[in-house]
Amino acid sequence: MNEPVAEGGCLCGAVRYRASGASGHPTLCHCRSCRRASGAPVVAWVTFPRGAFAFVKGTPVRYRSSPPVLRSFCGACGTPLTYEHADFPDGVDVTTASLDDPERFPPADHTWTSHRLSWLPLSDPLPRFPRSRHEL
Ligand SMILES: [Zn+2]
Ligand SMILES: [Zn+2]
Repeated sequence: MNEPVAEGGCLCGAVRYRASGASGHPTLCHCRSCRRASGAPVVAWVTFPRGAFAFVKGTPVRYRSSPPVLRSFCGACGTPLTYEHADFPDGVDVTTASLDDPERFPPADHTWTSHRLSWLPLSDPLPRFPRSRHEL
């Protein structure tokens, strides 16, 4: 299937990216490290094929938040942009809310709900995974 190109970038506009190919695994992640990395109670992610993702303006700062995980963000304004995990080298996760059209990529589930903040009630019918989708 030929998906239209998706573009996005940070708040200040210094970093822009372009993604094509079939997106997958749209999720809302409640894990502690996404929370710290974003300063938000939950982070929406969507995965694109790594070969179909590129930064087209500026260069993000990269931060290794754990041995297998590399996160990127804008060094000027701080917007979290990507997440890459060494165990899943074929994909790059993009923060859904940094996309120009986040409405195109609604989350399909909740992940790491074992870390969910108690004051963030969930009332949607989406599946919930206590940890990652790979650790049921
Ligand atoms: Zn920026
Ligand atoms: Zn997370």
